[in-house]
Amino acid sequence: MSTDLDRALEVAVSAVRAAAVVCTRVQANLVTAETLEKKDKSPVTVADFASQAVVCRALAAVFPDMPVVGEEDSKDLREAGAESLRSSVASHVRSVVEGEPSEDEVLEWIDRGGWTPDGSSDAYWTLDPIDGTKGFLRGQQYAIALGLIENGRVVAGVLGCPNLPVVDGGSETGVLMTAARGKGAQVLRLTAGEAAQKIHVSDVATTAAARFCESVESAHSDQGASAQIAATLGISGEPYRIDSQCKYAAVARGDASIYLRLPTSAEYREKIWDHAAGMIVVEEAGGEVTDVHGNALDFSRGRTLEGNQGIIATNGRFHDEVVAAVKGALTDL
Ligand code: AMP
Ligand code: MG
Repeated sequence: MSTDLDRALEVAVSAVRAAAVVCTRVQANLVTAETLEKKDKSPVTVADFASQAVVCRALAAVFPDMPVVGEEDSKDLREAGAESLRSSVASHVRSVVEGEPSEDEVLEWIDRGGWTPDGSSDAYWTLDPIDGTKGFLRGQQYAIALGLIENGRVVAGVLGCPNLPVVDGGSETGVLMTAARGKGAQVLRLTAGEAAQKIHVSDVATTAAARFCESVESAHSDQGASAQIAATLGISGEPYRIDSQCKYAAVARGDASIYLRLPTSAEYREKIWDHAAGMIVVEEAGGEVTDVHGNALDFSRGRTLEGNQGIIATNGRFHDEVVAAVKGALTDL
């Protein structure tokens, strides 16, 4: 049976909006010189768990039989010594859901996201409750990313980007993007309920005129190789460095025309929750997404993209040219 995608998106949008409220609140309180100085990661941990609980609760209410492949599980939270973290997570969850849930209920919601694809369900969600935790800790970009996979294919996705400007370069922030297979991609304000607008990738026709985006974190993408590839492609502008799946959002609405995620090791495998929502948003906005070899991303292999390496997303105008340039630079993959 295939899922009603309109209904799925409606539920996913409201779940991501509720999670974004928690994440925004935690981030606003965390950005002090002190937490940044100490590299204290506990605030992001609280928001990560609370975000996963809020989203999983909302999905379970409407799709009780559909599992969730989330990044987190409640194991650490259940341990002795985690009492204050647990109580903080629960109180953040209570601030956005009705019914005063107990700590046990919150832990159960988090664990709904602990599923691993095992063939027992053809349809499941995949969730990154806070994608781009490094960006979150720096007070910069992050995303709440929720994708729906059916028979090994991504069929719907929602990206909540609390700090992404509504218009590239503008000061007002908070963007939500949605996509369903065959139905296009849309943008909405993250907080307000105004009508969704269709989005489209850029119509930049040559690589030389393209702006490319990549990770802020050099451990997540080989920035030396991307500089070399940009030179090969005739791109003279600076890379647009932005954390999380906001890179997919940037390509989907035309702020950039290329996203390069170049492996920093031959062993690393991308996680499905880091790409499902972003990929479908770009594809439905008219763009193209493959791995660095030019192969389609294979979401049928479990929690990771086992058969793929890295990511190349473009507006679809010169994808093969970019793949060729990447292959020329990454000869040891
Ligand atoms: P970004 O914000 O695009 O730099 O990506 C953040 C994501 O990078 C996290 O959600 C991690 O799952 C993922 N990640 C962690 N280590 C690596 C790695 N070595 N290569 C690529 N991605 C990674
Ligand atoms: Mg992530």
